[in-house]
Amino acid sequence: MKIAVLSRNPKLYSTRRLLEAGTERGHDMKRYDYLKCHMNIASMRPTIFLGDDELKDHDAVIPRIGASHTFFGTAVVRQFEMMGTYSVNESVAISRSRDKLRSLQLLSRKGIGLPVTAFAHDTKATGHLIKLCGGAPIVIKLLEGTQGVGVVLAETTKAAESVIEAFRGMDANILAQEFIKEAGGADIRCFVVGDKVVAAMKRQGAEGEFRSNLHRGGNAAVVKITPEERSTAVRAARIMGLNVAGVDLLRSNHGPVIMEVNSSPGLEGIEQATGKDVAGKIIEFIEKNAKGGSTRTRGK
Ligand code: ADP
Ligand code: GLU
Repeated sequence: MKIAVLSRNPKLYSTRRLLEAGTERGHDMKRYDYLKCHMNIASMRPTIFLGDDELKDHDAVIPRIGASHTFFGTAVVRQFEMMGTYSVNESVAISRSRDKLRSLQLLSRKGIGLPVTAFAHDTKATGHLIKLCGGAPIVIKLLEGTQGVGVVLAETTKAAESVIEAFRGMDANILAQEFIKEAGGADIRCFVVGDKVVAAMKRQGAEGEFRSNLHRGGNAAVVKITPEERSTAVRAARIMGLNVAGVDLLRSNHGPVIMEVNSSPGLEGIEQATGKDVAGKIIEFIEKNAKGGSTRTRGK
């Protein structure tokens, strides 16, 4: 098969591993910087170019779209879909996953376990917002934050009020959440491919840190997940319409609760922590599922 990895940086571990795993299995692997592509919008014959070269006859694409380039990146993926090329994650599902509120709303509608969550932008009803998510201690987040930046634990109602008021002045979207204390500063990353969790790791925050982000000094280790965790992760990916997803969950007293569903999950941490060939699983999935002209919008 001729398979394209849409990635800006050939040196990234994830990009290298996907190219390597595909080549090992005898595929013709290409890597394109999607930001450097240009396209035409034509109903009869949509095309896509990188410089002077037309990108055609691909059996599948693997999108690795950076969060800061979702808009243009998903347009490139959509163009491949319009040409009848199979994308392992579809453009609509990627856009959907980049909107945290939309994702949480869709997951809650299908009964997936979530921390009790409230959201606001410029509310003066600070007290009511705090009450909605069960009262202090609560976690307050800036929706646009990544890698744990803008995620604050407010231990008391007073602290929660001042954090929300400070965030309010920033013209930001604010999310307030029940604090899952029993998670003990750890979360579980389930790497889903198709209808399976192909690898799972537990990330533990640094001493005295409730956030488990590896960028904040956390460490990762292989973990055995429960059947309930497994089915929650697979269902969450399916609701989002993602074939490849990094599903982050916390172990709460009321079962697994979802933090986030990532549509371009990194391979380095998970392959190193588990020793599994996750890149190979993605290529295998494509071998079984890529059928030209069969793209359609999934998810609900
Ligand atoms: P980011 O997307 O910036 O990583 P998250 O919302 O995933 O932000 O939060 C970062 C980390 O903080 C999570 O991985 C988790 O360990 C911890 N955390 C976030 N929300 C809660 C919560 N409601 N209860 C307990 N811990 C939480
Ligand atoms: N299923 C529709 C879509 O894919 C709407 C639901 C959603 O917000 O994702 O756009």
